Amino acid sequence: MFADLHLHTFFSDGTYSPEELASHAKAKELSVVSLTDHDTVEGCPRMAAACESFGLEFIPGVELTVEFQDHELHLLAYYVDIENASLLGELDRYQKVRQERIREMVGRLNDMDVRIKAESVFELANCNAPGRPHIARTLVKEGVCSSLDAAFEKYLKRNRPAWVPKSKMSAEDAIHLVHQAGGAAVLAHPGLNRCDDLIPQLVEHGLDGIECVHSRHSTTAMEHYLDLAENSNLLITGGSDCHGMNKGQPLIGTVKLPYAFVAKLKARVKRLAGGGPASAS
Ligand code: AMP
Ligand code: FE
Ligand code: FE
Ligand code: ZN
Repeated sequence: MFADLHLHTFFSDGTYSPEELASHAKAKELSVVSLTDHDTVEGCPRMAAACESFGLEFIPGVELTVEFQDHELHLLAYYVDIENASLLGELDRYQKVRQERIREMVGRLNDMDVRIKAESVFELANCNAPGRPHIARTLVKEGVCSSLDAAFEKYLKRNRPAWVPKSKMSAEDAIHLVHQAGGAAVLAHPGLNRCDDLIPQLVEHGLDGIECVHSRHSTTAMEHYLDLAENSNLLITGGSDCHGMNKGQPLIGTVKLPYAFVAKLKARVKRLAGGGPASAS
């Protein structure tokens, strides 16, 4: 039995509906999936229902953008109570930050005589957690850029002219938020952030695990993080980070995490809820 614990739908910057995603998961012979949209859990009820209809096990999740010592990191939350009031309040706050940032980035594009409207981006995004990919898609749709990559390269990447930094939750607060909502906090794709020196401090703040297996981790990176997790008594997770169709094929199922790691994740969450000792084994 295998899991893919990092997936996006059109409730954030993915292109699939929860039902389409669940159907792809079934076709890829996965047994367990988690939905980890950016800064929203709105897709979780539909994903849970779709998974049930396909006989898949579902883990509610969310991917939070956080800040730690001037680094932007992504934190995956698993098994959170998606009705937890503090969690929903913070997600709502950061969704508004995302919406305001879209207006600022579109403003910068307009200053460069790229005439797109924030309303067009919102219409295309049609969700509460819009991000740069929606601006990129709008730029391609309106013929300004030839591809999403070109849009990021020319305008949207960090330090490019339309890029606006996002105000973020601190990692400490985010880990606390996840724990008080009953979940486990896992550092997403550390191989993309070059932040290994921060991991021990994040563990001191309560980090539960690291995403060792990710579609953009090399085998060397994966082995490195598997060693690090085992030596630090951290949970091991993995996922494809599928955002929809990629070069003709969805990424979902390209990462297959053995079920034993899901079992350890569940056991840790149970122990957190019981206030018992936090051990990954
Ligand atoms: P945001 O949350 O608005 O900062 O946008 C970040 C999201 O943009 C990431 O989660 C990816 O989905 C996407 N992204 C980042 N860099 C690129 C890139 N170079 N090409 C395509 N998508 C990207
Ligand atoms: Fe994304
Ligand atoms: Fe991420
Ligand atoms: Zn992601």
